[in-house]
Amino acid sequence: MLKAVQILCCSSGLTRLTKTRNSSTVKLSTFSTSPRKTLCFNPTRMSSSSSLPGSDPLPKSPTFVSGDVRKIKFCQWCGGPTKHEIPDGEEKLRAICTRCAKIAYQNPKMVVGCLVEHEGKVLLCKRNIQPSHGLWTLPAGYLEVGESAAEGAMRETWEEAGASVEVVSPFAQLDIPLIGQTYVIFLAKLKNLDFAPGPESLECRLFALDEIPFDSLAFSSIYVTLNLYLEDVKKGKIKFHYGTINKRPGSSPSDIRAFSLDYHLQP
Ligand SMILES: [Zn+2]
Repeated sequence: MLKAVQILCCSSGLTRLTKTRNSSTVKLSTFSTSPRKTLCFNPTRMSSSSSLPGSDPLPKSPTFVSGDVRKIKFCQWCGGPTKHEIPDGEEKLRAICTRCAKIAYQNPKMVVGCLVEHEGKVLLCKRNIQPSHGLWTLPAGYLEVGESAAEGAMRETWEEAGASVEVVSPFAQLDIPLIGQTYVIFLAKLKNLDFAPGPESLECRLFALDEIPFDSLAFSSIYVTLNLYLEDVKKGKIKFHYGTINKRPGSSPSDIRAFSLDYHLQP
């Protein structure tokens, strides 16, 4: 169940994914100094009407990150008021409880999901919740404490699509630093054909690869995942992909088209 926000871009105006360099040679580097882009979105056809209703959590400042500690006003342990300082020996601003002195560290969340393959088709769910209500996604949601990433991906697939699946292999890790999320997507196969939408889905369908509704996908991460998968299928070899989805520096926070996939690594 992915209820929180990831609206970096919906696919409505993302018309193509273009490979611009041989990513196999790309090494990790600091984004702020030298982003290495291997895949870029073409935002030229995005229309304002494609904005997702009621789902614009993007920051008001380009330098904002989702872990904005100034939004933490009270201590999660004792309820005391917080102050915002850089603790001794650290470099980042933290919310520190003025009563119990505990520091509220914020760390990214992991979203896990399955790219379910069946006879040349993939399983997608139409969302019945915000954000991105009515748009299509892979079954995915937040990993729970106590389960592995693969277990979480299978659970989410069961919850959202009523589908019993077996994980085949990891397929992609996509980091989204701006909002503090990491997507881990597994390839999976159906154990049987008995699937049906759960409460968070309006509909679940197997789509042939040339029928995937790229004009109505829910999230940039899903758009990227499906495009990488299609590229691999065309090449006849499914690989594991790592990449970082970044908002384009200097772009308007409200421009949900302005993202690129950086540091694309694959074997
Ligand atoms: Zn406290």
